[in-house]
Amino acid sequence: MSQIQCLDLKRQHQKIKAEIFAAFEQVYEKTAFSGGPFVEKFENEFSAFCGVKHTLGVNNGTSALHLAMLALGIGPGDEVIVPANTFIATAWGVSHAGATPVFVDCTPDTWQIDASKIEAKINKNTKAIIGVHLYGQPFDIDAVKKIADKHNIFMVEDAAQAQGARFNNTCVGGFGEMACYSYYPGKNLGACGEAGGITTNNDAYAAHLKSLRNHGMTVRYYHDEIGYNMRMGGLEGASLSVKLKYLQEWNEKRRSIAGLYQSKINNSKVTMQAQPSWAKSIYHLFVVTVEDKDAFVKHLEQNDIIPAYHYPVPCHLQKAYAHLGHKAGDFPNSEYLANHCVSLPMFAELTDEEVARVIDVINAY
Ligand SMILES: *Cc1c(COP(=O)(O)O)cnc(C)c1O
Repeated sequence: MSQIQCLDLKRQHQKIKAEIFAAFEQVYEKTAFSGGPFVEKFENEFSAFCGVKHTLGVNNGTSALHLAMLALGIGPGDEVIVPANTFIATAWGVSHAGATPVFVDCTPDTWQIDASKIEAKINKNTKAIIGVHLYGQPFDIDAVKKIADKHNIFMVEDAAQAQGARFNNTCVGGFGEMACYSYYPGKNLGACGEAGGITTNNDAYAAHLKSLRNHGMTVRYYHDEIGYNMRMGGLEGASLSVKLKYLQEWNEKRRSIAGLYQSKINNSKVTMQAQPSWAKSIYHLFVVTVEDKDAFVKHLEQNDIIPAYHYPVPCHLQKAYAHLGHKAGDFPNSEYLANHCVSLPMFAELTDEEVARVIDVINAY
C-alpha cells in the first residue's frame, strides 16, 4: 500500500506542467521577472475572482500582512487583535510594523476567533482586528465587523488559507479594509515560488500599497517615504494566472472530499470543525481533534496515512512572544486544539480509493 500524505504537490504540478512552462517561456522572452505585465494580469484576474476593486501582488503573505498594517498607519505603541490559534505570520505582520499583537482565544467548536472575547481586549491603543479564515473557513465576519465599527477600529481579513471561500455566499476578501493572501506553494492557490497579495476596495490604500512594496516610490527614483522591496516576481505571477483558472474546480473537489469525511467518518472519538450556516469553506486543511491524539496518529501511520499538525503551539506560547508574558491556561481552547489537532489528507488530487481508505482506517480506530 502506498502512503497517503496530508498534501502531495507533485500530482497537481505534473498535470499542469506544460501550461506552466509555456507561461514561464513568455515571461522569459519578455524578461518580465520583477512585477510587470504578468503580475498585473494576475492582479486583475484575482480581483475579478474575489469581486474586489484592487489586488496588489507582493513577495509573500507575511509581507502582505506587514504592508497592510503600514498602509493603515499602524506602528509602535499600537495594538492589533489577532487570534491565538493561527499560523504565526498573522502576528508577524503586526510585529514587523512595530505594533503589538494582542491575542484572543478561539471558540471551542469553530476554532475561529471568539468574537465575544474581543471587546475585553480593546483599549485606546487598539487600532485593528485581524480575523483569520482559518483552514479555509470564514470567521464570524458579521460579529467581528460589528465590534470593529462600534470602536472605530479597522478590520483586516487574513485570507491566506481561503482563496475563494464564501461568507453568506459572498467571496471573502472585501469585507474589511484589506484582505491579505499567501500564494505559498502549499496554499489552495499557490505560486511556483513565493508570493502573496492584498485585496482592497479602497483606492487610496491601493495606491499607498503600490508605493510601499516598490521602495516607496510612485515616480522612478523619487522616494516619498521609507519603502520596501516586496514586489511579486513575474514567474510567480504567470504561474498564478495559470492556476487561478483551476481554483474553482480544485476548491469544489476539496469540498466534495470534505463532504465524504463529514458524512462517512462515524468514529465518535473524532471531532470536526463546526460549520456555521454562513460559512462555505474551501478546506485548505481538514483538521480534527482526538482526545487520545498520539494513539490515533500511531494508528494512522501504521496504516500508511501520514497526518500533519496545524498548529502544535498556539501563538501566545511561542518563544518569540515570551516577552508578552503569557502562560499555559491563558487561552484554553487554542491550547486544547494545539495539543489534540490532526490534519487529515486534503488536496484536490486525492483519489476516491484514497479517500475511502482514510475513512475506513479512521472508522476502524
Ligand atoms: C501561510 C499563511 C501566512 C503567511 O504566508 P507566507 O506566504 O508563508 O508568508 C499568513 N497567515 C496565514 C493564516 C497563513 O496560513
